[in-house]
Amino acid sequence: MTTRAQEQKRIAIIGAGPGGLTLALLLQRYGIPTVIYEREQQDQSHTRGGTLDIHEESGQKALKEAGLYEEFQALARYEEEDFRIVDKTGKIYIDEEPQPEQLEAAQTGGRPEIDRGVLCDLLLQAINPGTIKYGYKLEKAVSLENGMTELHFDNGAVETAHLLIGADGAFSRVRPLLTDIDVEYSGLTMLELNILDAAEKHPELAAFNKRGKMFALDDNKGILGQLNGDGRIKVYASFKAERSWLETSGISFDQPQEAKEQLLEIFQDWDEQLKDYIRFAEDAILPRRIYMLPIGFKWDRNPGVTLIGDAAHVMSPFAGEGVNMAMFDALKLALALARNTDDFGKAIGEYEEVMYQFSAEKARESDDSLQLTFGDDAAAKLAEMMNTIYEQFAQQ
Ligand SMILES: Cc1cc2nc3c(=O)[nH]c(=O)nc-3n(C[C@H](O)[C@H](O)[C@H](O)COP(=O)(O)OP(=O)(O)OC[C@H]3O[C@@H](n4cnc5c(N)ncnc54)[C@H](O)[C@@H]3O)c2cc1C
Repeated sequence: MTTRAQEQKRIAIIGAGPGGLTLALLLQRYGIPTVIYEREQQDQSHTRGGTLDIHEESGQKALKEAGLYEEFQALARYEEEDFRIVDKTGKIYIDEEPQPEQLEAAQTGGRPEIDRGVLCDLLLQAINPGTIKYGYKLEKAVSLENGMTELHFDNGAVETAHLLIGADGAFSRVRPLLTDIDVEYSGLTMLELNILDAAEKHPELAAFNKRGKMFALDDNKGILGQLNGDGRIKVYASFKAERSWLETSGISFDQPQEAKEQLLEIFQDWDEQLKDYIRFAEDAILPRRIYMLPIGFKWDRNPGVTLIGDAAHVMSPFAGEGVNMAMFDALKLALALARNTDDFGKAIGEYEEVMYQFSAEKARESDDSLQLTFGDDAAAKLAEMMNTIYEQFAQQ
């Protein structure tokens, strides 16, 4: 039942990514209304990023609480867990292929895969119509003397909120209300390419990639292939580079054919089949610098403002935790708000303590993994680390 206090208090969530959507849905289930302000004119999740592993201990917990776990199970792919690590000559260091009995066991729990767009659709269809205001890009947020926050949007709208939650990703416009600390470039640049209908158009490469991920690592560089649900192989040609490399490299990324030729030069002494990951890519190339917040990042507590997901702890994607943490934050914050409907400050305090601990641990893991993946002898060292993990699992 909605109390009078809840009716009076406006909760604004900035950003309709996986974190913001999960939070709005959970609060809706607890009878706490929110408004999500999203900068895009409509949902763009299908065009952003590829397959995500949803972990049992975090992302799946949030989906269970949101009442979507069974629908998620029907959409998730439990069989695409193959993982290969090779070096630039194509020498194989790890060739992991789950056995049928492991796949059966994984039908509950584990780390099933789902494409980002499919996950967001699942959340979106359960959220009450009208909850999301599209075309509202937050320009700045201003703290008012009465403890509320004033939100200024690029469409000219100005609104106020009793509680403001920044779920607006790495370059959060809410974060400056809480801290002067900003994201830092991690030193890694990734170029995202797509090989569409891989099994049909490039069967040899599809067979080499198998049903999952292929990491080719050497010389502080990587070609990473990831099979997505729609049959494409998403490719990340990745390397350590100066922050300004995208501008100074002389590569025009809006001219894909030319850009691919220049990228092939960067990997010129690599195995020809590995270079096919670049040659066969069809559509636009999406350059990305990978950013991170300092490990253990915290801010000064504000009883009317908090952050979840990448806004709170963006890290490199090498622990595969980003989306899981965004959803887990949403779960922890929603539960804390449901416990303390009349005291947002208390709810925020409870949530932030748990989140800081969990995120610092994952940020450390992610950074260690980034250094290993793009360090010397990466294929051998990553394989050694994976083998140790497999042995630990086998002993459990
Ligand atoms: C190359 C790459 C690969 C990745 N692979 C994985 C992986 O395998 N597994 C994994 O778990 N994670 C992965 N991640 C990380 C994952 O994508 C993020 O951690 C996750 O999307 C964070 O969710 P979020 O809701 O916090 O933020 P986001 O997904 O960034 O969503 C933020 C939302 O806020 C909106 N927004 C932004 N600014 C404003 C504004 N000013 N006003 C209004 N709206 C705004 C955006 O349009 C967006 O909808 C990867 C990331 C990258 C870059």
